[in-house]
Amino acid sequence: MFENLSDKLTQTLRGIQGRAKLSEENVSDALRDVRMALLEADVALPVVKTFIEQVKTKALGTVISNALNPGEQFVKIVHDELVHTMGDANDALNLAAAPPVIILMAGLQGAGKTTTVAKLARYLSEREKKKVAVVSADVYRPAAIAQLQTLAAEVKAHFIESTADEAPLAIAERAVAEAKKQFADVLIVDTAGRLAVDEAMMGEIRSLQDTLQPVETLFVVDAMTGQDAANTAQAFNQALTLTGVILAKADGDARGGAALSVRAITGKPIKFLGMGEKSDALEPFYPDRLASRILGMGDVLSLIEEAERKVDKAKAQKLANKITRGRKFDLEDFRDQIDQMANMGGISSMLDKLPGAGQLPPGAQAQLDDGLFKRMGVIIDSMTAHERRFPDVINGSRKQRIAKGSGTEVPDVNRLLKQHKQMQKMMKKVSKKGGMQKMMRGLQ
Ligand code: GDP
Repeated sequence: MFENLSDKLTQTLRGIQGRAKLSEENVSDALRDVRMALLEADVALPVVKTFIEQVKTKALGTVISNALNPGEQFVKIVHDELVHTMGDANDALNLAAAPPVIILMAGLQGAGKTTTVAKLARYLSEREKKKVAVVSADVYRPAAIAQLQTLAAEVKAHFIESTADEAPLAIAERAVAEAKKQFADVLIVDTAGRLAVDEAMMGEIRSLQDTLQPVETLFVVDAMTGQDAANTAQAFNQALTLTGVILAKADGDARGGAALSVRAITGKPIKFLGMGEKSDALEPFYPDRLASRILGMGDVLSLIEEAERKVDKAKAQKLANKITRGRKFDLEDFRDQIDQMANMGGISSMLDKLPGAGQLPPGAQAQLDDGLFKRMGVIIDSMTAHERRFPDVINGSRKQRIAKGSGTEVPDVNRLLKQHKQMQKMMKKVSKKGGMQKMMRGLQ
């Protein structure tokens, strides 16, 4: 995510970071590069102008006069300005109103609106422990209603039926009544998308807003459309007051122009990021964490939160007990570790949040692809329980059988066994007294 912008900015800032002294000229050179990076990222021009002016004022005021690490301070000023441009702090959904809290969702066709409705339903039920109902008022595309029904079943949200021959307003009113009857905490209303902003669409969604009086009216934009996303959101915001924006498809956006333009152009917060097609790929939007990620400083906080949420604690504890008792880390355990990693969104999503990972040589990054872990899982699945527990019995003919069963080659099986051995050695170190500290030292 945002790798082009990130590469350009980190390169520029690396040049200035180490300097013991900064002149006005150094600062203006760096600012020129930052400006270029933002423009290439498709950040809206007025936003770029304000950004550069702010950084310039602060930098000239503090950096040059202060002898202590002026380069570092410059980086901090850029970081803080990124945070500010994206809205300073996380703006959570307002869920305190009387139930059902109504969330109205709007967006252009293909932006990712219906997928986002399902993601949000899952997020609210899993993370906020809310009972969620969803309904589609998109009477123009029966396929859209069916799509929501399928997704609702997948995320276990209560789906309120609707048909193409009902009026959107009638659907909305009926849905509110049913949500109340069901004691739903939240009702998410999906609306019709259009190819472009048009009057009829605006009129319809405006009357839905009047009738429903939603607590949240969220506009879903496609991050890949850059500053256009911010302009479309603003056109909507002028017609009906939005409470926030969800940036879908941020996972595929190398530039970051939408993320950096939306707040400044619309005055409305980005509340969530869509990070993939799956229903769990929705992240709350934290400007400070994203700014750190953009500047290659990682986002360890999100990583820890994700680990706390997604790692199976009982299994982790069992493994820890087993290892401290001096038992061997076998291939079953290895399989569990691979699953846990997949649960956390795979290696690529984790790398994205690790400080400095962006600076890894491309070769090293490629070696860590998610397909590799899937393949490793399949190889282990092709072994017998006995082989998983006692990997030493795996001889040549067994290797051939395992390779055949998993659709891989014998060298792949060998590689996996070697990786397991390395992991086993590491676990052994951990199990010895003070092993953890030793291991950490080894990694530094
Ligand atoms: P709608 O017309 O706005 O309701 O759009 P859909 O929800 O049908 O989504 C359009 C396409 O975008 C689908 O193929 C989705 O799987 C995909 N999509 C939606 N959100 C994301 C996201 O956050 N990341 C990625 N990579 N794809 C997404």
